[in-house]
Amino acid sequence: MANTPVKTEVPPSALGLTLDDWIEWAESKKQPKFRAKQIVEWLYQKRVRSFDEMTNLSQDLREQLSEQFSLGFLPVARATGSQDTTRKFLFRLDDGRFIETVRIPANANFDGDRSGRITLCVSSQVGCAYACKFCASGLAGFTRNLEVGEIVSQVVSVEHETGEPIRNIVFMGMGEPLANLSRLNKALEILNSDWGMNIGARHMTVSTSGLAPQIEKLAEIPRQIRLAISLHGATDEVRDQIMPINKKYPIDRLFEALETWGRYKKQMITFEYILIKGVNDSPDDAAELARRAKKLHAKVNLIPYNTVDGLEWKRPDEDEQDAFLAVLLKANVTATLRREKGHDIDAACGQLRLQEETAEGIIETVF
Ligand code: SF4
Repeated sequence: MANTPVKTEVPPSALGLTLDDWIEWAESKKQPKFRAKQIVEWLYQKRVRSFDEMTNLSQDLREQLSEQFSLGFLPVARATGSQDTTRKFLFRLDDGRFIETVRIPANANFDGDRSGRITLCVSSQVGCAYACKFCASGLAGFTRNLEVGEIVSQVVSVEHETGEPIRNIVFMGMGEPLANLSRLNKALEILNSDWGMNIGARHMTVSTSGLAPQIEKLAEIPRQIRLAISLHGATDEVRDQIMPINKKYPIDRLFEALETWGRYKKQMITFEYILIKGVNDSPDDAAELARRAKKLHAKVNLIPYNTVDGLEWKRPDEDEQDAFLAVLLKANVTATLRREKGHDIDAACGQLRLQEETAEGIIETVF
């Protein structure tokens, strides 16, 4: 049966532990603190495939590690695309659930980045509870939060699969990252720390549908990560129609949180805005979006809606898309419009799911 959880006795992933956790573990084994440093170096910098490769640890300690932990690599249930194109990995978790992780080559990067870096779009939950009306992940409903090791392991596992380092990460995969905030924070620590994977904070973007209190909490964390808002509407009237989260945190409450964010962080906020015909694509919508973006000095990414089977929405015609963009540019807002087909990755958190395949569909195809 599709997406049925499987009971396993797999030990916890070693990739979910911070340096402090490893120090605690080493102390519990009556080991000196520097053992923890050695372990994180093997895990996060040398990215070993087996505990036996940790050659500066005693045989006994390696055995204890392998009894208590797994190395947490995620088996690939299916991969689509190639080294040169957007490549989607469907990973199977220990409990039999599935998540998607997407590798985006430099020439098709999030945010128009032409730096030559590869970007990885990472999932934070299995499914999503927020039920945005245009989103395929929302259709499948919420199953569970990902563990820290499952978040970090998406990066390590894709590096192992492709042999290329990942230096850019966007949390725009399945799920609402800020609904899994404590684990997200710990994963960010492992990914960003110099004892960990040492990926620059400015190269990590967290995307949210608008969980205002969690934005404020994340703002207080002293890492200069980037924030993207799945906005898709500049008024309560529009957001209420397509994003149920807006009922809980209306747009003024969201913007209050964004002002707090701006006081802590130096980077521009990005607004993701899917253009949906007849819903949020009028000249008035554009003018209100321009007003709000200017106030926060935010950048806008416009993404014409990609049709999802089972959903009613349509993309506006190209001249309507151009007219919308022109309003933003005329107001001196930094804005981009992406039209690439099949490049649905930069649409929103959770929008990366293959358009023609629901979660159940993918799994039935594979198994
Ligand atoms: S857009 Fe993001 S928050 Fe909304 S349902 Fe999809 S994954 Fe969840």
